[in-house]
Amino acid sequence: MNVVMLGPPGAGKGTQAVRLAGLYGIPHISTGDIFRENVREGTELGRRAREYMERGELVPDELVIEIVADRLSREDCRSGFILDGFPRTVAQAEALKDMLAERGRSLDHAVNVEVPEEVLVKRISGRRTCRECGANYNVHFDEEGPGEACRECGGEIYQREDDLEETVRRRLREYRAKTAPLIDHYRSEGLLRQVDGNAPPDEVLRAIKNALEGSGAAG
Ligand code: AMP
Repeated sequence: MNVVMLGPPGAGKGTQAVRLAGLYGIPHISTGDIFRENVREGTELGRRAREYMERGELVPDELVIEIVADRLSREDCRSGFILDGFPRTVAQAEALKDMLAERGRSLDHAVNVEVPEEVLVKRISGRRTCRECGANYNVHFDEEGPGEACRECGGEIYQREDDLEETVRRRLREYRAKTAPLIDHYRSEGLLRQVDGNAPPDEVLRAIKNALEGSGAAG
């Protein structure tokens, strides 16, 4: 099953993508995670992506398309993938279509996780992330709070630079201008699956699963 997750930053698509990947036994590919890993390791790709990321802007299409093409060509993607954070522009969506077509494949679903904007700002500016494993916590929503060490792996908890409120607002503007048009793009291709993301994570997961397996919630 070949799936892309759409939806604004903070919609919970990363969390859901990880769970879907586990459920269907296919890889979860997050372009944001790939960039952050490269920034951390100080690679050439990381050096080029960093300035855009810190400003809350999108990294240029050609850089992103290349890393996704490379990742999708690996053996573990043969039975499918959950793409999280890609495509983010119509040009990236077209490139994805072409790279799949070259392998005689196509996309099955574009899941759009919808959440009202005020909830997004609260979710992202309250988000704290583990430096080691990428697990997310939230100062507003987690009863136990994020703490100083990750409950999954013991890694250090920090706030991503691009989760600061001003940057969050810029990321949302980028989303509206460049990524939201993908909703109509995938609707016209008959691939759009709309899901309400303003609900507890288990409910959102159930709704996505229903949409993918054809029992309602499709848009
Ligand atoms: P994310 O974790 O998906 O919110 O991504 C973090 C940052 O990485 C974004 O704000 C962008 O600067 C960059 N990024 C990730 N994926 C893409 C993409 N598909 N196109 C352009 N930039 C991206």
